[in-house]
Amino acid sequence: MTRRRKLFLACLSCRALVPRKVAEEAGRCPNCGSTDLTENWEGAIIILKEESELVGKLEYLKKPGRYAVEVGGE
Ligand SMILES: [Zn+2]
Repeated sequence: MTRRRKLFLACLSCRALVPRKVAEEAGRCPNCGSTDLTENWEGAIIILKEESELVGKLEYLKKPGRYAVEVGGE
């Protein structure tokens, strides 16, 4: 089984996508502080501004940033 290295890791707590470099240096999610970061995520939602109609549509979409649609699982 080969798995492509992703450029971003996803936070299991808030679903924020964290650049690999940031994740490796900080060891935690810059958004919520969780240390549960995973490469196992699919799909990305990018919110550019606070007024985006996406904000609030899903529970974890609270502020601008990049988010994974699905995290965890095998
Ligand atoms: Zn987080």
